[in-house]
Amino acid sequence: MDRTAGLMPARRQPPLRRLQAPGPQLRPVSHAATIACAACGRRYVADRYAAELNVCGGCGHHARVGAVQRIEQLADPGSATSLRLEVAMRDPLQFDDGVPYTDRLERARERTGLDEAFEIATAAVSGVPVVLACMDFDFLGGSLGSAAGEMFAEACECAVDESRALISVCTSGGARMQEGIASLAQMARCSAGVKAVSDARLPYISVLGDPCFGGVTASFAVQADVILAEPGARIGFAGGRVIEQATHDKLPDGFQTAEFLLAHGMLDAVVDRRDLRPTISRLLDLYTRAA
Ligand SMILES: [Zn+2]
Repeated sequence: MDRTAGLMPARRQPPLRRLQAPGPQLRPVSHAATIACAACGRRYVADRYAAELNVCGGCGHHARVGAVQRIEQLADPGSATSLRLEVAMRDPLQFDDGVPYTDRLERARERTGLDEAFEIATAAVSGVPVVLACMDFDFLGGSLGSAAGEMFAEACECAVDESRALISVCTSGGARMQEGIASLAQMARCSAGVKAVSDARLPYISVLGDPCFGGVTASFAVQADVILAEPGARIGFAGGRVIEQATHDKLPDGFQTAEFLLAHGMLDAVVDRRDLRPTISRLLDLYTRAA
């Protein structure tokens, strides 16, 4: 069966942009091309570490991965095309906590090479056409502002227009406080996008990376047909300390880890990053076969 038969031409063609800097957990040590695992300190040559998808071969620690790197890890080689959505900076509250919000946005753009906390691309995974919507924690903590919400909504629209499966990878601190209620409204906006994908009978697979919190976990990240998470990922709504202060209860060990949530029925599987692509491929195969 030719699964690409219904594939429409990509709407925008420029190549993917590359992140300009490694993630915060990639600590350069004695040499610029050497990286130490943040958990056990084992050292790696940068290229080897990247080939292992930023997973430590010694302790299994999954270091953070940027949005563009995520897309490169999941997509069939050469198949990814960035949607290059042009999103304007928005500052509805003229927010200034000592540093103007627009300045923070500008710095995040320079640091990551991204326009917002998402990178969206059309691609193929094992030949199945998909839209990949990947968050980047380095962009203001992967927070969900109105522009980021618009990007995810566009990703859903693209999936429906072009009959593609939707795959998201979320790493986020939650809603973006600098945009107040406009940020919270994105939960509804993104949920509406997911509903449109569902109504079109297209599969949606969500991958939760470390960390995934707040309004992202409370909306589109957990509205997928299949919810996967990476080992050790911290996932929740409010942080553990806030919950303990509110409830005056001691939380159980491992609370808000992927493994804890899997044991309590909140996830479908915890998947090692090195198995993520084949796992998603199998799921897409099952969904497209059923269709
Ligand atoms: Zn390690």
